[in-house]
Amino acid sequence: MFNALIDQIRSTYRLAKRATAKSMPLIDETLWRQATEPYRALQRLTKEENRRLRLIASDFLSRKTIRGAAGLDVTALIQVQIAAQASLLVLELGISQFDDWSEVIVYPGKFSAQRETTDHLGLVHTSRDVLAGEAWLGGPVVLSYEDVAPPDESHRQHYAHNVVIHEFAHKLDMRNGNANGYPPLHKGMSAATWKRDFMSAYLDFCKRIDAQRQSAHAPVPFDPVAAMTLPIDPYGSQNPAEFFAVASETFFECPELLAEGYPAVYAQLKAFYKQNPLMS
Ligand SMILES: [Zn+2]
Repeated sequence: MFNALIDQIRSTYRLAKRATAKSMPLIDETLWRQATEPYRALQRLTKEENRRLRLIASDFLSRKTIRGAAGLDVTALIQVQIAAQASLLVLELGISQFDDWSEVIVYPGKFSAQRETTDHLGLVHTSRDVLAGEAWLGGPVVLSYEDVAPPDESHRQHYAHNVVIHEFAHKLDMRNGNANGYPPLHKGMSAATWKRDFMSAYLDFCKRIDAQRQSAHAPVPFDPVAAMTLPIDPYGSQNPAEFFAVASETFFECPELLAEGYPAVYAQLKAFYKQNPLMS
């Protein structure tokens, strides 16, 4: 306990020292408050955590380039909104978790991406997806600003929705290759337990989604009324990588929903992120 406290003081001191260096200006306090206060995942932080997050987000901005696409002017506010939420994931892990890439690209709204897939006959199929965010292996994170901006309270979903947490969770997952829901774990964590707990929750979630679709005779996309009883975004049923990213959104935004719906997944994420948002 005492050693952990000393480590924390040391790391905060190191960060503070770097924050005062010319290369890493500390984010202005008024701008920081304006950028962070509307987000419920950030509202849960203690004063001390908020102070450390500001240092890490300042470090994030000194290391990464955030550029606009399709005519978006990336203001200081947009930069801090993204940096603060991305840094939340590594508040206890360190900014080095994001070391293998350098750029964030922000579109004004949803953007379309062209995909090519090859089928078993060798035929190449081209499709277009409309996206709110995307994380490239070893490359940039791409975001839609209309999804990054604080949500209008009247349009808030029952479950969590946070595109920045989602895409940066994929980035952590990609630290050992393609996103698959199995990021590199920390010392003391068990890969077998992680796989067991995530897979059983994922399969249960897929069953619930199928059952609701059938009972509501709802075509895809998923019936939003039926989704009101789910702990996490139905999008998590796409595959284990999306389940991990969506569970991470819920862990930080609506921890009580995840802890109640999938307590074993909550416990794994608590160990992975070294945070316990339920206690904040
Ligand atoms: Zn995703």
